[in-house]
Formats: sequence, C-alpha cells, structure tokens
Amino acid sequence: MSVLVYTESENGKFKKNAFEVASYAKAVAEQLGTSAVAISFNADANNDLGTYGISKVLNVTSNQLQTFNAEAYAKAIAEAANKEEANVVIVSSSANSKYLAPILAGKLKAGYAPNVVEAPSNTTPFTVKRTAFSNKGFAHTEITTDNKIVGVSNNAFGIVENNADVAVEDFSPSLDDTDFAVKSVEVDKVAGKVTIADAEIVVSGGRGLKGPENWGMIEELAEVLGAATACSKPVSDMGWRPHGEHVGQTGKPVAANLYIAVGISGAIQHLAGVSASKTKVVINNDAEAPFFKAADYGIVGDAFEVVPQLVEKLKEFKAQNA
Ligand SMILES: Cc1cc2nc3c(=O)[nH]c(=O)nc-3n(C[C@H](O)[C@H](O)[C@H](O)COP(=O)(O)OP(=O)(O)OC[C@H]3O[C@@H](n4cnc5c(N)ncnc54)[C@H](O)[C@@H]3O)c2cc1C
Repeated sequence: MSVLVYTESENGKFKKNAFEVASYAKAVAEQLGTSAVAISFNADANNDLGTYGISKVLNVTSNQLQTFNAEAYAKAIAEAANKEEANVVIVSSSANSKYLAPILAGKLKAGYAPNVVEAPSNTTPFTVKRTAFSNKGFAHTEITTDNKIVGVSNNAFGIVENNADVAVEDFSPSLDDTDFAVKSVEVDKVAGKVTIADAEIVVSGGRGLKGPENWGMIEELAEVLGAATACSKPVSDMGWRPHGEHVGQTGKPVAANLYIAVGISGAIQHLAGVSASKTKVVINNDAEAPFFKAADYGIVGDAFEVVPQLVEKLKEFKAQNA
C-alpha cells in the first residue's frame, strides 16, 4: 500500500505545484503509515522530489505524452495506482488535474474531493476540509469509497521539506490508440510571461484604469514583482485586455500568494475567483469600494499616482538588495 501523487511538469521541469502535492502526499502517507510514490511524465531531475518526502518516482517517458492528454494520463495514473496498490491518489488543482481527476475517478471507482486545503483531519473515515461556495465557506467531506482522489488547492498546504531517499523507476503504461482519440495537435502558448495559474504574484487591473492605454504601469508593476497580469471581466469584455487575463467566478481562478487589485471594485463575482489568494492588496480611490472589506492591505488613492510610486519604490528596494 502507498499514496500515489501525480506531479506535473513542463519542458522536463517540475512545476511548483508538484512540490506542494508531493509534500501533501508525504503528509497523508505518514498519517496512513505508508510511503509516498510519485508518477511523472517526461520529467527530468526526478531526485528533486526526494526533498519533499517522495520515496519512489515512476517516470513515464513517451513522445505521445509530451502534450497533456487527460484520458491517456488518467489511464497511466490508474495503472500506476494499481501497480503500487495505492488507494489514495493526490493531484493538484490545476486545470489539467481537474480535467483528468474525474476520468481517473471513473477508472479507479474512486471518490474525488477537489479544492482541499489541509491534510486529512481523520483517515477513518477519510475526512478532508475543502473550500465551498466560491471560497465563501468550508466543507468537511468524507470520502467513503475504498479508492480516494484528493485535489489539493494551490498554495493551501505549502511546500514542506522532508528529505527521503528516492528511487527513480521507468514506467511504461500500456496505452493504445483509443487512449488518444482526442488529442491536442498544436499548443500555442504565450512565451516569456508568467501565467496566472503558475504565478506567485498577480497584478490585476479593473475599469478604474479608464482604458487600455493605461496598462503600461500595471505591466511595469508586474514586471518588477515577477508577477502575472490579470483583469476584471468588463476589462476583457471591452477588449482592453485579452480574455485569458479575465479572473473571477467566470474567468480564471487565482490562488496566488499575493494578489494586487488596482481600480477593481470587488464585486462578488470577482471576489469569488480571487479570494483564495493568501494576501490581497487593494488600490482604489473610493474608500467605500467593497474590495477593501476582503483586503489584507488597502491603499485609498488614485491608481495613477499610487502605482508609479510603488514601482519606483520597488525598483529602489530591488537595487539596494540586489
Ligand atoms: C454572471 C456574472 C458573472 C461575472 N463574472 C465576473 C468575473 O468572473 N470576474 C469579474 O471581474 N467580474 C465578473 N462579473 C462582473 C462583476 O459583477 C463586476 O461588474 C465587475 O467585476 C466590475 O469590474 P471592475 O471592478 O473592473 O469595474 P467597476 O465596478 O466599474 O469598478 C471600478 C473601480 O475602480 C475604482 N476607480 C476608479 N478610478 C480609479 C482610480 N483613478 N484609481 C483607483 N481606483 C479607481 C472605482 O472606485 C471602482 O471601485 C460578473 C457578473 C455577472 C452578472
């Protein structure tokens, strides 16, 4: 028996969420008195995972699996779970993991609890705490099936070092053409920019910025912080920013360590998608803007004065601490 964790990678390198889910898997394995095994696809530097308590990595190397394919990845993970006799499988809350987890649940006849924010409070019955109602509340959920899938929320459990000797094993799942009935033929990715999903920091602009010509200062603030840029729904609806930047209930979810909202009122539909972020900073010239109630830090002021000063101070700070 073991706990299996799907560790995501890109261009051979593990994503940050791989280390978080590995840390979570180790915590669950300790609770169950067993070891944590990872499955990775076309990843190098597998020894990295030993730092977070993984004792074995099943590494799948396959040209067919260079691009994410939910059906094929789910089949491979199911095969790995059966091989390792793992009845708990841990995945992240990335779009890819949320896509494959229900398919995997079907294959393993497993119960699946997504958006989990803590290690299980109990293992019999297996009980996890999850965010619910668009992050407005928590649900304590029991998974009563023999096999269980836990989807860990980004930046919720954190990365925990827990050195283990790690063995790396090649793993060749038995896949055939039917597993690739639906496949991506081309992936067009924005190059050289931090994506919202992977970002530690997100700088987001709203209608208070008046027009697309004013986004230079948002991009500058994002650049100095190494952050991704995002926006409210009306901003992308009006074509000021690309739709891929729209965050909120109907846009991308944000669970960053730091979310900076500039000229955004904090409508409930916006907050629903961003409130899982650890620290929220709001810059708005209206002291009554609802976002201030959800903020950890707030600046009441004109964005056109505050943001350039913030950029200048951050640049100074970086120069002094370089
Ligand atoms: C079904 C549904 C789904 C939705 N989904 C989403 C969603 O996913 N994401 C989303 O964002 N919205 C969503 N909305 C829209 C949402 O209700 C709000 O209309 C929207 O979030 C408002 O965007 P905003 O804050 O940029 O604009 P506004 O509400 O117009 O707010 C602009 C803010 O900028 C401030 N401001 C103005 N000038 C300055 C200045 N110079 N300096 C500083 N601050 C300034 C103002 O005080 C104000 O608070 C949805 C709505 C519906 C009905």
